[in-house]
Amino acid sequence: MQKVDIYRMKKILSFALAALMVTAFPSCTEDRGGDATDGWEKMFQRDDPDPEEDTTPDDYDPEKGPWFLTRGIVCCWTDVSKRSKLDYIDIAKRTGLNCFSIYNADLSSAVWQSYTGECSRNGIDIEFEEHMLSFLLPRELYQTHPEYFRMNDRGVRVDDANGCPSNEEALAIIRERAKIIGEKYKSTNNKYYCWLDDTGDICHCPDCKGLNPADQSLLFENVIIEGLKEVNPDATLAHLAYYNTVEAPKTVKPVDGIFLEFAPIDRDHYHPLSTTWASGKDGRTHGQYLKALSDNLKIFPKETAQVLEYWLDCSLFSNWDESNLKEVAWNQDLFEDDIKTYASYGIRHVMTYTSYISANYVAKFGYPSCIDRYAEGLRDFVKK
Ligand SMILES: [Zn+2]
Repeated sequence: MQKVDIYRMKKILSFALAALMVTAFPSCTEDRGGDATDGWEKMFQRDDPDPEEDTTPDDYDPEKGPWFLTRGIVCCWTDVSKRSKLDYIDIAKRTGLNCFSIYNADLSSAVWQSYTGECSRNGIDIEFEEHMLSFLLPRELYQTHPEYFRMNDRGVRVDDANGCPSNEEALAIIRERAKIIGEKYKSTNNKYYCWLDDTGDICHCPDCKGLNPADQSLLFENVIIEGLKEVNPDATLAHLAYYNTVEAPKTVKPVDGIFLEFAPIDRDHYHPLSTTWASGKDGRTHGQYLKALSDNLKIFPKETAQVLEYWLDCSLFSNWDESNLKEVAWNQDLFEDDIKTYASYGIRHVMTYTSYISANYVAKFGYPSCIDRYAEGLRDFVKK
């Protein structure tokens, strides 16, 4: 308890100091993104971010192509399918978007086949980023095999989310069912995503309790990729650093083909990541997020590491209520600062949610030029 109280105290002091800086020196903090507090923040941080000094690969030449190799969006089929009102393919052709991750489409429908065919002809990859653990380990198995499922912190096996990654039989089922994902959700870029159940807790059984959430996630991912590779030998699989898996794994190592996907959903969406004192919903400061990113990049290859951001996530800004759409809080300076930060860590693959930016969004707010700004910003970025 004492540790928690000290941490809270530091956070309160950090907020108080930030508020004081805004009051006393508004132009200073607005222009410099909170740099004035960085010296104080270093006293409050448990660890400092430590990007490697030179993250520019020898073969990078701005004349030959953009720094950001993946420039993509994640959204729902209903967001992209009303093309007469908002045509994401046209936006991509104009601005250089090159990857669409689309959920909730009927993959057997003629309209989907036609849509993805047109994407293919225009150099746009199709992939599927989704939470999958409950599909890979069906909940109905709980009736006969509760040991496949996670133990909660009171010692009871529960089937609410995820599973027990120390149970070999559960892992065998997951490995087998990953083949179904590989068949059904075939991506065009060999990237696959079988995220843990959204905001689900982890296993606290005697075999798992020494493993942090990212370790447990990796135990699942290391067998999921085996199943995927049986369908597609070139398959790669995301390790999602998100929610309780933001911190790097400590014990388990990724097998070949696992790539880092860093998705700071609970960051402060109104300050750039470089404002290290800022903190969002989960209480982690941006300094802590960047430390976690740095730690993850010591375990996962930098070359394939990807960011999943929320700059254009209308669903988040609308509190996931599509009947009450809110305009995306697009901030060009924040975006440019963030991509510079990510590039400084060597990251060259970027996606953002654009959920709820749809025909209805256009009717309410007009054309979302923020998508163009996002795509062009990534396409035209030059790493210094
Ligand atoms: Zn367990």
